[in-house]
Amino acid sequence: MDKTILELHELLKNKKISSQELVAESLKKSHEIQEKYNAFVTILDDAKGTDKIDHLLSGIPFGIKDNYSMKNVLSTGSSNTLKDYVPFYTATALQKLLDVGAIPVNKTVLDEFGMGGTGTTGHTGIVKNPWDPTRMTAGSSAGSACAVASGVYPYALGSDTGDSIRKPAAYCGIVGYKPTYGMISRYGLFPFASSLDHCGVLTRSVCDAAIVVDAMKGIDEHDMTSWDSKDIHLYENITKSVEGKKLCYIKELCNIEMYDNPTEELQNHLKNFKEKIELCKSLGMKVDEVSIDPKLLNALPSVYVAISCAEATSNMSNLTGIIFGPRGEGDKYEEIMMDHRTKGFSPLIKRRFVIGSYILQKENQERYFKNAQRVRRLLVDAWKELYRTYDAVILPVGTGVAKHLDGSKDILTKDTAALEEHLQIGNFGGFPSITIPDGFIDGLPVALNITGNCFEDEKVLQIAYALESKMDYKNQIAKEVK
Ligand code: GLN
Repeated sequence: MDKTILELHELLKNKKISSQELVAESLKKSHEIQEKYNAFVTILDDAKGTDKIDHLLSGIPFGIKDNYSMKNVLSTGSSNTLKDYVPFYTATALQKLLDVGAIPVNKTVLDEFGMGGTGTTGHTGIVKNPWDPTRMTAGSSAGSACAVASGVYPYALGSDTGDSIRKPAAYCGIVGYKPTYGMISRYGLFPFASSLDHCGVLTRSVCDAAIVVDAMKGIDEHDMTSWDSKDIHLYENITKSVEGKKLCYIKELCNIEMYDNPTEELQNHLKNFKEKIELCKSLGMKVDEVSIDPKLLNALPSVYVAISCAEATSNMSNLTGIIFGPRGEGDKYEEIMMDHRTKGFSPLIKRRFVIGSYILQKENQERYFKNAQRVRRLLVDAWKELYRTYDAVILPVGTGVAKHLDGSKDILTKDTAALEEHLQIGNFGGFPSITIPDGFIDGLPVALNITGNCFEDEKVLQIAYALESKMDYKNQIAKEVK
């Protein structure tokens, strides 16, 4: 299934292939990929094709991150606390796809409840990178990235609280897009940190991302942060000219002299990025280098930890084993809850709850939680200031290629933290943000990201589409390098 949505739609329309054949092929591929890379919690072997053809997505298979609720289908969040949970309703965003005849074929592995960036913490085990199985996919939308990159189907759903769509997309050589906050309803998505959570999609082309999000978006009475986006037509407007558009990149993140002892990989990554800046210019866009106070940039990771852990602690207090999930042992309800949570959550998640509880304690709130919110505002204001002059900010994703699973060969230094974490600004501000592949280092994909102002999704996708069409990385299927 190495084709784009538009190509598959044409084949279905002209009866060159049936939806049933596509589903059968996708299920077969799912089993192969599961064997090699462990991308799925559940493969929906009963999935059936459809004769429906009135929508671009009709009859085409897709994958669902396992933190989207799906009625009568196991939905675990990749956590032992919900290992047998079968929801009695379907997430709005997913329902919208089902309504147009899209066919779900599997539920994909994530870092437990989306809380992680490695793809190694789900309760069914680690997900391997299809370009090099000794490396991570990154996360948390690990299985979705792995499956799309492996050609199981043209798209899979993801969620993004810090960078969970855009990071794994980068490391798997595909496209990851999270639209403006609230453009897609989150009703039925397991909450992680509500002020940062977004639904979105992983695809192999910008155009496919536009088609899927057009179908998923819309106001929903069940999600009070959703808004009416009926005047936004991502796919219809995607080919609009980008001539005269203004972009900027941040000197402190993109210039190699800003780093002490940069690795060769980082040097290559930034050099490759700068070449893509020249490509932007050749498309008639203007690109400036701008400066952001490094103190503000370096505050990013701690602000994210404080806010996301505090919100997660509060959101996940409903996981008691009493309402859903396996019942804990004990006589009193406190004991039952404690047993369920002690056995169910992995140590990494517990660590986040300890941090979150500490931050939310009355005596600590002002110092940690409120201050984190203030710095979040400063960061968002700095980006909003850029959007007064520029249409979008363009930046490299991470410090290079996918990290090793054993971690021993990856040197993360303090001065690269902001480069690793800057995608979180997209969540702080709710900005539309898309990652696209922009090259290779030693046979492994690297990527760049484009982030624009809220509600300017059309413009962000137009820029990404124009750039994608000048590079050779569209619709890539992963090939193992060794
Ligand atoms: N890696 C980040 C974290 O661990 C982002 C996760 C996400 O976006 N869901 O919190």
